[in-house]
Amino acid sequence: MSSLPLVFDAPKRGLPPRHLADLSSDERAAAVAELGEKPFRAKQLSHHYFSRLTVAPEEMTDIPAASRKRLVDALMPPLLTEVRALACDDGATRKTLWRAHDGTLLESVLMRYPDRATLCISSQAGCGMACPFCATGQAGLDRNLSTAEIVDQVRSAAAVMRDGLMVDEAGAPSPGRLSNIVFMGMGEPLANLARVIRAVRRITDPAPAGLGISQRSVTVSTVGLAPAIRKLADERMQVRLAVSLHTPDDELRDTLVPVNNRWPVSEVLDAARYYADTSGRRVSIEYALIRDVNDQPWRAELLAKRLRKHLGQLVHVNVIPLNPTPGSQWDASPKPVEREFVRLVNAGGVACTVRDTRGQEIAAACGQLAAEG
Ligand code: SAH
Repeated sequence: MSSLPLVFDAPKRGLPPRHLADLSSDERAAAVAELGEKPFRAKQLSHHYFSRLTVAPEEMTDIPAASRKRLVDALMPPLLTEVRALACDDGATRKTLWRAHDGTLLESVLMRYPDRATLCISSQAGCGMACPFCATGQAGLDRNLSTAEIVDQVRSAAAVMRDGLMVDEAGAPSPGRLSNIVFMGMGEPLANLARVIRAVRRITDPAPAGLGISQRSVTVSTVGLAPAIRKLADERMQVRLAVSLHTPDDELRDTLVPVNNRWPVSEVLDAARYYADTSGRRVSIEYALIRDVNDQPWRAELLAKRLRKHLGQLVHVNVIPLNPTPGSQWDASPKPVEREFVRLVNAGGVACTVRDTRGQEIAAACGQLAAEG
């Protein structure tokens, strides 16, 4: 991260002590050996955490009590405590507020669909990017999350799905599998890049080394930190990249996404192209449609033109109807305006669809996460 300016170097203060989920398989084996325990205990612990999805020492009965205590004390410090969980969309959406070891608050949102279950996770507590339409951006950055704090949101949701606590399409709770992860909760994932990359590896490594979710089912969403997009590309992973563009012109984007002053649209799209070329995956462009702000026909046309130029066919636009946040005068565009915008982008040769909005009544929709205690 040395090439990124200081503003992205959030303080290390508050990060939890080392946890199993911070470590690769090799690092876990080394950590267990350092404690004077048998090497295979690392596999046992990993099995409990990543396959059985448990952190309860009393359930780890294959490890003798004395070793268990030593291992759990050293490698499984408490990470996230559930403060509250709220459901909406008839139980198919569930937002959880978590408290970290130091009192920091963060949120994640689980959404069950007929064909998949998606968890929206946080990579930071708060956010330093200050986008004026986003609730998380208003309060500023508390701190980065550790790798394990990111992974533990996923472990918990995977257990919720497995244990049948989410309502399915028939309207009844039933067991299912957590299939998709989106880094679209609190924070800017690429401002916490090293920990996010490690978290993706823990989330996608096959069990019991990791949680065994497919890399292709993980999406990392960014405001457009161009150098960090290139670093992520150089990891050669199969995760999908989403870029929060919100307008094709620098003049407006300088205010909607302030970091645009540092990396303007063309640089962001060039970095996105590099990502598409190295990963072989289409990049998603996120576009929160705001009434009378960025919803004009000429912007739809310019968007299609610039995307075609930089990304060719390697792009898909997701229009997100703006979710109004407290204290903001901005609103979603009227449906006819939205339909025309989508039509014009498609007519310009770029695939464009409207993202469904879950979780609105419980302040769990895009840009609403604010973690009020
Ligand atoms: N920092 C990352 C990820 C978090 S936000 C990013 O910006 O991409 C996930 C998406 O929700 C982003 O596209 C963001 O711009 C969008 N968003 C934020 N506030 C919103 C709001 N009030 N209504 C609709 N979308 C919003």
